[in-house]
Amino acid sequence: MTGTLTIAGLGPGDDALVTPEVTSALAAATDIVGYAPYVARVRPCDGLTLHPSDNRGELQRASEALRLASEGHHVVVVSSGDPGVFAMASAVFEALEEKPQWQGLSIRVLPGVTAMLAAAARAGAPLGHDFCAINLSDNLKPWPVIEKRLRLAAEADFAIAMYNPRSASRPEGFGRALDILSEAGCGERIVVFARAVSAPDERIETVRLRDARSEMADMRTLVIVGNSATRRVGRWVYAPRQAR
Ligand code: SAH
Repeated sequence: MTGTLTIAGLGPGDDALVTPEVTSALAAATDIVGYAPYVARVRPCDGLTLHPSDNRGELQRASEALRLASEGHHVVVVSSGDPGVFAMASAVFEALEEKPQWQGLSIRVLPGVTAMLAAAARAGAPLGHDFCAINLSDNLKPWPVIEKRLRLAAEADFAIAMYNPRSASRPEGFGRALDILSEAGCGERIVVFARAVSAPDERIETVRLRDARSEMADMRTLVIVGNSATRRVGRWVYAPRQAR
């Protein structure tokens, strides 16, 4: 039997935002591999083995998925949002580089609705002009790199989507990120805090950067800092199509 490996994005939370392509892949799977809360979003059924793991050890999880596929299983590696955005797809390809014997496997990456797009849609159109995305976690990159990218993104006047803004193990970084943007002259910029987008406890808050506080974000929050022209119309936030 020939195995397959599918790397799929489950979207931000609501089942309505799982693509039909991902739903079909899950229905054809024999094994689901991923971080436990994401694996828990897949309905158990006969003939399906769930392999939940903790949120570290992505490379080991990726190797395990490749091994199962090489043994003939139909494996789906699940991520939240999109699997290519700060998620498992890169880990699978890293593991594949280390194991040339698996490079002939049939592998597919299925896109999902990433958090910044779901969050932007709730707010209006804050990503309607040029933007960038930054992961504020310094687990896999040095903090000075994050600072440099924030400073340059502010200087380039990008809207900035921030993933992983703040966690119990990293309570300080987001406050520092706000300080850096403030020092870069972004105090008047509009900031959207989008928490648990598409889940029942969703909350969207919009403030000026000078009024933003570190405690407004946690690990379930996606933060979008508008560009210098981003403005409000009624309850909506949008980036005008023309740059200044
Ligand atoms: N692959 C995922 C991102 C994983 S990093 C994606 O494409 O969305 C995890 C971070 O994503 C969280 O810390 C948070 O910043 C963001 N995130 C994921 N789901 C979210 C949701 N439903 N609402 C708000 N932010 C979310």
